[in-house]
Parts: sequence; structure tokens; C-alpha cells
Amino acid sequence: MPGRDSGEFPQKTEEVTVRSQADDIPPDCSGIPTPALEEGPFYKPGSPERRNIAEEGSPGEKLTVEGYVFNRNCKPVREAWIDFWQADGTGVYDNTGFNLRGHQYTDEYGRYHLETVRPVEYGPRTAHIHVKVRANDGSPIMTTQLFLPGEKRNIEDWIFDNSLVMSISKTEKGEIATFNFLLNIE
Ligand code: FE
Repeated sequence: MPGRDSGEFPQKTEEVTVRSQADDIPPDCSGIPTPALEEGPFYKPGSPERRNIAEEGSPGEKLTVEGYVFNRNCKPVREAWIDFWQADGTGVYDNTGFNLRGHQYTDEYGRYHLETVRPVEYGPRTAHIHVKVRANDGSPIMTTQLFLPGEKRNIEDWIFDNSLVMSISKTEKGEIATFNFLLNIE
């Protein structure tokens, strides 16, 4: 991590180097539980486990989404289950197969990484990505939706929640969106 060994706090060096990243409280944890939103009509259980949910030929602009899953104490949650599903770049869901559907587990640092395409608005809905998150087999599933910044239909959509808008940066590899989930669990 940049700055970790910069020597700004030499008296702390030993302590910092023996701690793993997963034990640190990341500076970008809000401490506020991620709000749940409705599941909608297009969820299908049994999605494949994969980080790239856009199958060959999926219409839409490439989008990467990544971030952490935290518990209510801002501790990263390892091996949290995250299930994504979304419309493609023309606003259409695959309801016969599993294109743009997939689940994954957070890594040892509590991070997830999703490769997909930018969803597009459909019917009454602004662009969004549906998601279910569960810390472990014994914890409740939190169902919600993520939104894209700057979409003109955000304010018209009654389901839209400003606290569920991802941050997006444009890079050489395309757009990278970030969003950290905070589950209301210990
Ligand atoms: Fe939807």
C-alpha cells in the first residue's frame, strides 16, 4: 500500500509491518450500513461463480466494479458471498440463461472485483446493478442495488438512493467503479 513504509511514523514501523491489511480499518469505511433496496422481478438463484459476468458479445461498455465488504465495525469480511445481476447495455436482462449474472466471494482482504458492462436504463428504472451480499452461511442476505453517477434518470426513479451511487474513475483499462458494502453485523 503506498505510503505504508514511507517512514512518516518511524516509531510505529514495527507494529504496522506485522499487521495484515485485513486488520486495518480502511480510511474509506463510512461506518453506515448499506441500505437495502427491493430485489425486483429478475433475480434468478443459482448464478455461476465468476468475476467476469459479461459473456462474449454482451452489448455495452466495459465496466469494472470493485470494493470491500465491511462489517459494522469497518472490519473487512473475508469470503463474503456477493451475487450480481443486471441489464445489459441495451437495458435487457437475460432471463433464460445467466449472462450478466454471477456470484463471487471476497478475498482475504474483504475485497470483490467484478468485470461487467455498463447497465442501461429500462422501463421506469434508471441504470442499476442488483446485488445480494451475505457475510457467511449463518448471516442474513442483504439485497440492494448500485447506481451510476450522473445518470439523468436517477432523480426520476423512486427506487434510486443517493447513498448507493458508485464512484467512477476513467482509466486506460476503462471505467472503474468503486463501492464498499457495510453489513450490519458483528
Ligand atoms: Fe433491475
